[in-house]
Amino acid sequence: MKPVVAIVGRPNVGKSTLFNRITRKKDALVDDFPGVTRDRHYGDAEWNDVEFSIVDTGGFAGDEEDDFSGLIRSQVHQAIDEADAVILVLDGKGGISPFDSELIDILRIVTIPVFYVINKIDGEEKESLLYEFHHLGIDDLYPISAEHGYGISDFLDKLVPLLPCIQTDKTEAAEEEISIAVIGRPNAGKSSLINKILGEDRHLVSEHPGTTRDVIDSLCKISGKQYRLIDTAGIRRKGRVSEKLEKFSIMKALKSLERCDVVLIVIDAAEGISEQDIRVAGYAHDRGCGSIFLLNKWDLVEQNKKTANLFYEKLRMEAKFLSFAPVITISALTGLGVSKIFDLVETVYKQYSTHVGTGMINRIVERAIEKNEPSLHKGKRLKFYYTSQVSTKPPTFVVFTNYPEAVHFSYQRYLMNQIREQTGLDKTPIRLYFRLRTGRIEFSDKKNLQKDSGKRKRK
Ligand code: GDP
Ligand code: GDP
Repeated sequence: MKPVVAIVGRPNVGKSTLFNRITRKKDALVDDFPGVTRDRHYGDAEWNDVEFSIVDTGGFAGDEEDDFSGLIRSQVHQAIDEADAVILVLDGKGGISPFDSELIDILRIVTIPVFYVINKIDGEEKESLLYEFHHLGIDDLYPISAEHGYGISDFLDKLVPLLPCIQTDKTEAAEEEISIAVIGRPNAGKSSLINKILGEDRHLVSEHPGTTRDVIDSLCKISGKQYRLIDTAGIRRKGRVSEKLEKFSIMKALKSLERCDVVLIVIDAAEGISEQDIRVAGYAHDRGCGSIFLLNKWDLVEQNKKTANLFYEKLRMEAKFLSFAPVITISALTGLGVSKIFDLVETVYKQYSTHVGTGMINRIVERAIEKNEPSLHKGKRLKFYYTSQVSTKPPTFVVFTNYPEAVHFSYQRYLMNQIREQTGLDKTPIRLYFRLRTGRIEFSDKKNLQKDSGKRKRK
């Protein structure tokens, strides 16, 4: 499981510049789906073969009425509670402000690794600017220039060995167990739902340390099947962050999405579908999880087919990228619809972990190509040699071709839709990549593919 690193600091010190620099290489590999409002404040990074997620907390700016110091203080506390390491960015040109000193005092006493970088040191000649910072009494200061790249590789060389290695606790997972994350914006009804599911301990098998620190999962049995509800303690417990400042926690969401097979995206239907709900759904899409939308608080909505359809349509429109995700209406309060959730989880999981036989997938792709040939590439024919499924969770296919970069996006969509139709994989994300045929699959290709499919090799 990948550790989450949070970048903190006051405005204008260079957090987002640093974030962009660290994630740049990786971002190019992400296949954007039109319509995904990609949130530029979290991303994947890799250095010396260590993978981690990185979050620019500064990107989650508050409402105008919040004074910035309160917001940043709460972001720092949230980072301490939820990230696995913190980078505090200081401004080498601007020097130390009293507010920086306050943040440093908070960070001095925490147990997770903290890295202090002095930004805007645009070259060796600027190292004299560091003088002031040595008075802080911090052993390791990293002079960098996020903008020009100076000092970045030395810094990352030091950072990655100190990142905690996070192991999923799977000691008791003898039988097949489906991991379920519950995400959604504050007050959508996540904790109510979890309490309803685990209600009166009817289903609860045990509470179980999830990964590091204070994450507690709940194992429950429903109709003889075992499920792991990820970080139930974290969801039930309202954080240190005050009600007003309570924001959707990207760090929590990333960590639970990293470990789940299926995510339940809880939406407050009484409030309608908001932009934030769609952004939350975007995280699930990015992580390639099986996803189910739960329109919660349905007891507060006029319940008829027409309203339901309006909701479904709106969701389909706004979250096109998750058009395969089933949607149901529930009420965590009255229990309406809650019993249907696990049947759906089973269906989605079954598809999510499907392996399609090589013969079958090749027949499907060949037929699709016969029906609709790709256009010429610089006057040459695009050739597709063979297709294979390289991983499950989600099902990931690779087509070997003579010009991988020439396959048009719309053609990729076409093939994906054909695969969905012919295999019946209509409720799970699937992935389709094109690789150059080189006679054999090169090791680096295999490695990339495994990375692309992320944690899915967990079990
Ligand atoms: P944030 O508010 O902390 O996310 O800061 P930004 O990343 O938006 O950067 C604030 C300003 O500092 C921008 O004008 C950047 O171009 C500038 N900046 C960022 N990094 C560097 C650097 O390494 N050197 C110099 N000279 N300027 C930088
Ligand atoms: P969380 O922040 O996502 O964990 O949301 P909570 O579970 O704490 O719920 C926020 C508020 O919505 C609480 O006052 C709940 O009682 C209420 N709530 C949650 N689910 C429902 C529901 O299905 N119907 C109604 N009427 N209220 C609900």
